[in-house]
Amino acid sequence: IPEAEKFRIEYWELEEAKLRRMPPPKPLATRVALVTGAGSGIGRAIARRLVAEGACVVVADRDADAAEAVAAGLGGPDRALAAVVDVTDEEQIAAAFRAAVRAFGGVDLVVNNAGISVSKPLAETTAADWDTQHAIMARGSFLVSREAARVLAAQGMGGDIVYIASKNGVFAGPNNIAYGAAKADQAHQVRLLAAELGGLGVRVNGVNPDGVVRGSGIFAGGWGAQRAAVYGVPEEKLGEFYAQRTLLKREVLPEHVANAVFALTAGELSHTTGLHIPVDAGVAAAFLR
Ligand code: NAD
Repeated sequence: IPEAEKFRIEYWELEEAKLRRMPPPKPLATRVALVTGAGSGIGRAIARRLVAEGACVVVADRDADAAEAVAAGLGGPDRALAAVVDVTDEEQIAAAFRAAVRAFGGVDLVVNNAGISVSKPLAETTAADWDTQHAIMARGSFLVSREAARVLAAQGMGGDIVYIASKNGVFAGPNNIAYGAAKADQAHQVRLLAAELGGLGVRVNGVNPDGVVRGSGIFAGGWGAQRAAVYGVPEEKLGEFYAQRTLLKREVLPEHVANAVFALTAGELSHTTGLHIPVDAGVAAAFLR
């Protein structure tokens, strides 16, 4: 065998042996999660589900009162810790990870969920709109993942990073340039980090929800009115409109997104990384308006 080939085989044997030593995913009941944007909507539902499965959770949000309220409702300091984190702030992110390690001994599941939507038609989208949108969703999730990777690598036990991305990062919706582009950035972060962190046993996957109207602060805070105008339906009928355009004729709720995070991290999908799971009752599977 040529020298180069011998080296290749030895190298892969070494890598294989390393991977064989890597422990399988820990059961959720023994895990510690950090969920960004967990003070509301989808993030809150994810935090609730993970605690219901026995995990300890850091409820990270830039809205301190919301984070405190969610954490208090999850059984208090033994199970949930509120952390004031603006995902655009590197120091606040690092501090939240340090707090998690202090309180619960480590972190092995990180959910990039914090988000806003400032999307408008192209001509009305300012440079500031673009920067704000990307600072929170593209840059913010990159910063959180970078800190997560540092902590996960130091622990040497593998782990999970989950992005709450969007159908809008894959398919073009109307008047959606800033939000859609930032979600597409997140979608590619999933693949890039799955490739870069796979050797550490860290899985990186995405969940692509669509039309989660009820419970969503994004929808209540102006996005809903804007979407209602785009689709020509009254805002109070938006949930119903989204449900009717799905293949399953079902409204998507925050809990359905939390179910997908559970499925990705509970252990059964131990060999899945770089994947995006749609939670959209079938919208992305069909050619619909
Ligand atoms: P939401 O407004 O209810 O929750 C978002 C949370 O993120 C809020 O608690 C907010 O305070 C927090 N947040 C915003 N900016 C932050 C920052 N800089 N740092 C830390 N926290 C910050 O909205 P939601 O609908 O639950 O959305 C959650 C995520 O799901 C977002 O990333 C959103 O883009 C994504 N998503 C939502 C839908 C939907 O239909 N609602 C669809 C696809 C994707």
